[in-house]
Amino acid sequence: MSHLLQVVVATPAHSAIAGALTYRSPAPLAPGTLVRVPLGRREVLGVVWDAAPESSELDAASIRAVAGALDGLAPLPAAWRGLVAFTAAYYQRSLGEVALAALPPQLRELTPVQLARRLKRPVTDTSGPPVTTELIALSPDQTCAIEQFDAESAGQRRPSLLFGATGSGKTEVYLRAAARVLAEDPEAQVLMVPEINLTPQLQARFEARFAHLGRERVVPMHSGLTPAQRLKGWLAAHSGQARLVLGTRMAVFASMPNLRLIVVDEEHDPSYKQQEGARYSARDLAVYRARLETTVGGSGPKAQLPGGPPPAPPEGSDPGPAARAADSVCRVLLGSATPSLESWQATLTGRYQRLEMAQRIGAPTLPAARGSLPPGGAAAPAAPMSAEAGGLPLVRRVEMNHQPKRCIIAPPLLAAIKERVARGEQAMIFLNRRGYAPVLACHDCEWKSDCPHCSAYRVFHKIDRTLRCHHCGFTERVPHACPNCGNIDIAPVGRGTERLEEHLAELLAGVTRPDGGPVRIARIDADSTRLKGALEAQLASVHAGEVDVLVGTQMIAKGHDFRRITLVAAVNPDGALFSSDFRAPERLFSLLMQAAGRAGRDARHSAASEMWVQTFHPEHPLFEALKRHDYPAFAAQELQEREAAGLSPFGFSALVRAEAKTQEAAQGFLNAAAEAAQAAQLPGHERVTPYPAVPMTIQRVANVERAQMLVESASRMALQRFLAAWQPVLFDLRRQAEFKSLVRWAIDVDPLAI
Ligand code: ADP
Ligand code: ZN
Ligand code: ZN
Repeated sequence: MSHLLQVVVATPAHSAIAGALTYRSPAPLAPGTLVRVPLGRREVLGVVWDAAPESSELDAASIRAVAGALDGLAPLPAAWRGLVAFTAAYYQRSLGEVALAALPPQLRELTPVQLARRLKRPVTDTSGPPVTTELIALSPDQTCAIEQFDAESAGQRRPSLLFGATGSGKTEVYLRAAARVLAEDPEAQVLMVPEINLTPQLQARFEARFAHLGRERVVPMHSGLTPAQRLKGWLAAHSGQARLVLGTRMAVFASMPNLRLIVVDEEHDPSYKQQEGARYSARDLAVYRARLETTVGGSGPKAQLPGGPPPAPPEGSDPGPAARAADSVCRVLLGSATPSLESWQATLTGRYQRLEMAQRIGAPTLPAARGSLPPGGAAAPAAPMSAEAGGLPLVRRVEMNHQPKRCIIAPPLLAAIKERVARGEQAMIFLNRRGYAPVLACHDCEWKSDCPHCSAYRVFHKIDRTLRCHHCGFTERVPHACPNCGNIDIAPVGRGTERLEEHLAELLAGVTRPDGGPVRIARIDADSTRLKGALEAQLASVHAGEVDVLVGTQMIAKGHDFRRITLVAAVNPDGALFSSDFRAPERLFSLLMQAAGRAGRDARHSAASEMWVQTFHPEHPLFEALKRHDYPAFAAQELQEREAAGLSPFGFSALVRAEAKTQEAAQGFLNAAAEAAQAAQLPGHERVTPYPAVPMTIQRVANVERAQMLVESASRMALQRFLAAWQPVLFDLRRQAEFKSLVRWAIDVDPLAI
């Protein structure tokens, strides 16, 4: 007798086969078993998802047989399947695409013989002697954070958010939390997702700390590894041999049978959102996964994404009674100096636990700030990180209205830079050149190209010289003069700094260093670091003190530990204050806080460190909050505005993007899809608003026209139901002759930028 099985294989994202295929097998195979199955003329890797329903109507003779199981590999755990099923359902992709993309590529290519050989490699001796790595004494903040985290582990087990200033020693907290989990249970596994630049140094540090666990217990997982290395790490994680996986975004899908802790550092970082294929947020999935991996007292997992009720549970998200016989708890620890407003709001409502570390390591202590949080930390007023208290640099705003017209570096800032150079210190000047959609402004009055219908700014589209609202679609031709004062000098906000490096060289021409040598300027940006190793080399020369003034984009603001920098300046941050993207201020604040964190890392210099901000809007609340290093104040203000406008985390959205030979076709497809949804009265439609299609900010790429449509809802559940029902409509429409010039379409759920 043969058994019928549902098997998931890699299906092209937009193919009609979105779910599993039915195969037969002489022996029953457990869900999660990796198999090879025939598909057309090929043989492909697949994952057994379920037994097929008994009353399968398929003609038994036409059902093909499984070619074989991958021997020696345990089935993928139920929680892993639950995560994959959820990801596919939530981000509107096919199960097969998500499942197979979550496996190492080499697993698909190896023949059974090759795989068997891989698996037979001798396991290295893992019973290493207990090396006692010398532990540093924790700061009072760190001690307190760890105690509260442990208390939560024994109590409610909400996701924890470590809100810690730059330099407050968050990494040490992660290490201690991991060490505790690994020590308590000899099988336990930990997943660490550090900020995107997973450096060899960081890996070495983790390996050293956990050397006592035995060799090869810490494995890296990122796209920079060779296929063979990736497979090796994946197998180690899947078999349970690896105790700690250190990975980037994609590591959230690592198969780990005994996962007990997930750490996501710099949780606010936009790079956690995948920008192609299934556009998942690794941070959000980490939170969801921790819930899936937690099974207590026979109760099934009740996972949900941050910010709302769970969407309809996708099939397969319940591991079933057998898998939840024993209690197991998986915690999630997020960390940031400037959390995402979604995570921050969750701590305000008490859904997440908040842990605080306001003090930089080595800063003079401030007794009043300590112990002010009740256990759990929910809804407690957060102490601002004051410059004097936390050892953070002084923030100085340069009012650009009072500076010579069109100057790029204001005279007082220039004077401050010269002073630093003369003293042998370093300065860092950074440009905000992220691809903000251009918004027009008048240089004589306060006019900005805002939308009369929305709390959004309209975007300047150069191609047809229009101003378009990316929210409601309202479009007008660019006015010839300022509609407010008649001035003809209207231009995009925050431009005109392309040649900053050369300009600085001219301005600093006569300045000499203490040793009498001329000032040395270096630029670090995407252009200067295109060659492999160039970034490292340039950073090394900054560290070595071979550079006096460092100029660059946001690239230099992040993470690097420049000890001799005592002045950081943002020359054109205003573009982010007036952006069509509602998250632009959040990113700017985070970037400026990070940049400020670069100054005075060395405690000896921290007293004299300054962060300069050139702005036409010095009174803006964002800069007021920055001056006080007061993230909670910034968040409160920003959340209030988002709530009023129904934006995330108070509202939910998705973008549908379409690409076609002409802009009309791309927009026409989207608008037709919205009409069809309306006509069909799709589930959830009464609570969902699709807006008219608009061209994307970068409207044409390689002769393909791109358009997008925003879809909003106050209910995550309604939006999810609507999108799920809408997908088949979009597939159908795409097949119609009318839209044959359409190249592709895709849905982006919880988009990071509109
Ligand atoms: P964050 O990630 O919060 O910005 P880091 O984890 O990079 O901070 O720590 C900042 C610096 O402080 C690092 O050089 C780290 O080694 C050091 N550090 C962390 N904890 C301690 C401690 N308890 N005592 C002394 N130095 C510490
Ligand atoms: Zn004007
Ligand atoms: Zn509008």
